[in-house]
Amino acid sequence: MSITTDLAGKKAIITGSNSGIGLGIAQELARAGADVVLNSFTDRPEDHALAESLAATHGVRARYIAADMSDGAACRALIAQAGACDILVNNAGIQHVAAIPDFAPEKWDAIIAINLSSAFHTTAAALPLMRAAGWGRVINIASAHGLTASPFKSAYVAAKHGIVGLTKVTALETAEEPITANAICPGYVLTPLVEAQIPDQMKTHNMDRDTVVREVMLARQPSRDFATVEQMGGTAVFLCSDAAAQITGTTISVDGGWTAL
Ligand code: NAD
Repeated sequence: MSITTDLAGKKAIITGSNSGIGLGIAQELARAGADVVLNSFTDRPEDHALAESLAATHGVRARYIAADMSDGAACRALIAQAGACDILVNNAGIQHVAAIPDFAPEKWDAIIAINLSSAFHTTAAALPLMRAAGWGRVINIASAHGLTASPFKSAYVAAKHGIVGLTKVTALETAEEPITANAICPGYVLTPLVEAQIPDQMKTHNMDRDTVVREVMLARQPSRDFATVEQMGGTAVFLCSDAAAQITGTTISVDGGWTAL
């Protein structure tokens, strides 16, 4: 069998993909030929314009479906509305930072719902479609925080460890089928959100851009370089390729050596 990364005709759904890593993954899947469904909880003209731009650039079908990933029924409805799902990328995520006694319970609930439970609901709705199609890829965007911890990120670390566990169970339940489930564990990725934090950090630490990035923001990332959204997209495309057909139930760290420390 020849090894291919041609995803023409495959239908991909990427949750939380109107910015950052989700959009980068959607772009690379579209570049590889997949039709894509973008998602977030907003329903603005610019969200739909992102899908139109992807379709025009890569000659694939692309649409944007608004659905709130904090709502289990909406997660399932997203998959139903898309109608097909060969590739499911569970990427939607939020963060909140506070010590456990001060951690607002509603923030805990929101992080667990969006970063973890959404993947349970979308996977439950998508697996029957993958089985009907005879092929499937589940790609969960975890984090270096799915494998290690940091103080003040209790809900995020719990959700990301949880999604690594869900990935393993999904892989075992599909192990004898042409379906795989894996988690990508990014370190610090240069997204618009991260980029926007740099000026503040420069001011707080009275450092230039390069120094604050190397010494403060990337203190735990041995490469002292951000990963990119394109690298996340390329890793997702690899997981969809024939070369990765026997890779299932595992984590792929794209973290500049963070988890080697
Ligand atoms: P981002 O804020 O740019 O992207 C998050 C996406 O999720 C956005 O599209 C946002 O609209 C969407 N989203 C948020 N709440 C939602 C909801 N209720 N329903 C639907 N969509 C919702 O951030 P990002 O850095 O691109 O993060 C994407 C994923 O990557 C997250 O799961 C995050 O935990 C993970 N991650 C990011 C980094 C990093 O350094 N940026 C590192 C490790 C893991």
